[in-house]
Amino acid sequence: MALKESEAIVLRTYPMREADLLVTLFTRLEGKVRGVARSAKKSRRRFGGALEPLTYVRVYYDDRERQELVRLDSCDVLESPLANQVGYPRAVALSHVAEVLDELLPDREANDAVFRLALSTLSVLRGSAVWMPITYFELWMTRLMGYLPELTECIVCGRTLNGSRAFFHVLADGLMCADDKRLASSEISAESRAVAAQMFHAPAESFRGGSWPKTRAADLRKFLLHTLQRHIEKKLVTAGMLEKIST
Ligand SMILES: [Zn+2]
Repeated sequence: MALKESEAIVLRTYPMREADLLVTLFTRLEGKVRGVARSAKKSRRRFGGALEPLTYVRVYYDDRERQELVRLDSCDVLESPLANQVGYPRAVALSHVAEVLDELLPDREANDAVFRLALSTLSVLRGSAVWMPITYFELWMTRLMGYLPELTECIVCGRTLNGSRAFFHVLADGLMCADDKRLASSEISAESRAVAAQMFHAPAESFRGGSWPKTRAADLRKFLLHTLQRHIEKKLVTAGMLEKIST
């Protein structure tokens, strides 16, 4: 039997029939793949803790029948998010990463840049400091999916926004100057736009250390979530959960 082998990140699992699990994986080989882990709920031998969401695994699967669902043969844990302490903020942040990947990635389409982004996000998403990793992940995910507009000019008049105030609106695709902003727009600060510019030029690890309270770049994250949600045409469940985290 010719099994496919790939690095993968577990996105979600759902109970299926008595003992089976339906698993959504983001594989490096061919993008988002859905599969069935037979008897995974009964026998922990083959899958152990490998199917916890956001576990980085090496997966072996059978795709012979060209059906929509592959059959998972086995999974080896390369890195588990459970190896580090999982407090509530981190649990919500991990769920957010999984939901965004699951909602935005198309089926069976490899995307190595997003795969590397997911791994680097997981590597900085340790402990309870969640806002830097979340900001970095949302920013780059929006960009890599091709949804991020130019942040330095007004989408209406084209004037540069560097050195002046900038606004965004839930129904608009980019930033607007003070003259062109719509009713009920929100402002995005120059500091947050500077954070975005820095994040485009440096790896996530370089932003570790230093304090990153929830208020820092909150306007940027709001703008990014608006943008992502507009493209998937639905609300992200975890966006509301993140909003409720107080630190
Ligand atoms: Zn303008």
